[in-house]
Amino acid sequence: MNPLIAPRPDHFCVELEQIHARLDSIDPVAYDKTRNYLAGATTWLGPFLAHGVISTTDVAKAVRSRHTDDACYRLLFELGWREFFHRTWQHRGDAIFSDLRGPQHGVRHELPPAGLIQGITGINAVDACIQHLTKYGTMHNHARMWVAAIACNMAHTRWLEPARWLHYHLLDGDLASNTLSWQWVAGTFSNKRYLANQDNINRYSDSEQAGTWLDLSYEQLPEVSLPSKLAEPAAPTYAALPSLTAIQDLSIADRAPVALHSIWNLDPHWQRDIEQHIVFVDSELHERWPMSENRWTFIKHWAERCGAVLATGTTEHLTERLANHEVVRREYPACNDWPGTVTERAWLYPLPDKSFNSFFAFWKQVKGSVGY
Ligand SMILES: Cc1cc2nc3c(=O)[nH]c(=O)nc-3n(C[C@H](O)[C@H](O)[C@H](O)COP(=O)(O)OP(=O)(O)OC[C@H]3O[C@@H](n4cnc5c(N)ncnc54)[C@H](O)[C@@H]3O)c2cc1C
Repeated sequence: MNPLIAPRPDHFCVELEQIHARLDSIDPVAYDKTRNYLAGATTWLGPFLAHGVISTTDVAKAVRSRHTDDACYRLLFELGWREFFHRTWQHRGDAIFSDLRGPQHGVRHELPPAGLIQGITGINAVDACIQHLTKYGTMHNHARMWVAAIACNMAHTRWLEPARWLHYHLLDGDLASNTLSWQWVAGTFSNKRYLANQDNINRYSDSEQAGTWLDLSYEQLPEVSLPSKLAEPAAPTYAALPSLTAIQDLSIADRAPVALHSIWNLDPHWQRDIEQHIVFVDSELHERWPMSENRWTFIKHWAERCGAVLATGTTEHLTERLANHEVVRREYPACNDWPGTVTERAWLYPLPDKSFNSFFAFWKQVKGSVGY
């Protein structure tokens, strides 16, 4: 078992050409067969997609140009989950930060369990994945599901604070995909809570651990609790926002047009005909959703590739500072209050303007647009 197969931050601080080479080397058939295994052929493109360095359409275009529709189905389906979560955010706004469909039952704690954030749950594969996450910022999807199931459904914690903790560490931390995935596991955005036992973890992590508190049948699982000394609620430690130029102090040539990036639009090709590029970091949002040092290294790397200067402040400071400039920015729900002319994001699945209550309703509506 080697959960450390998950890449380290230097895998993501690369040049655009290297990302395109990775897109060209995706094997969608292997992806389909093995994506649930920690050592499977997942793409590890998450940080680039979450930060808008590349888009879901770039991934689909690259893979479809080399492989048949059948071979690409699974990857296009999974990319659909990302778009479904983001369409849900567009439609439901800040409601995604509360229980979306119904309350989470049996919740006793708000803060994440100490045993989980320290990576000492006693389940070796899960612990190795957590320790890797806190050091390097990457975690496989299946490990995220196990972690969320332990926090919400076995340590009886409300999903929001554990979600904040995971988002803090992940290089691909994404406000929509993260909060809505946690809600999906906790049963507040799905029909059923997600649970996994030791057998499931062994199978997908290539391990053989036995005799743990999770070594139970699926019939016994709904009653299981994380051992109480591990379930003790604990406040995670979060680093402060790194020191960045205050937006009020940023020098910009008089009346120069500004391409205003968010940290979710670090696309180096965007608005190249504009000279002044700024990546604005909303200090109030960062207080609610802080990010790790690994994440900041990634953001600074890609801000530089955009030829942009990083600046911070509140939305009011931003609006005041750019009042005399022509500003263009990309649509993104966290930036709805920002000034400027809004351009559309690239969507793989263009949609009628309506919201979907489940991924499968969404998928049924959109799959025809890519030929399925
Ligand atoms: C509790 C929990 C928290 C999560 N938090 C985040 C998060 O903060 N940011 C984030 O981008 N994803 C999140 N996910 C979804 C998923 O785990 C990651 O998108 C995926 O692991 C990224 O790795 P990859 O690029 O190798 O994915 P691949 O499997 O190679 O997929 C390629 C891309 O498709 C999209 N995708 C694939 N599966 C999913 C999925 N189930 N949901 C949404 N998008 C998907 C992602 O953009 C991903 O990068 C979370 C899932 C869970 C269960």
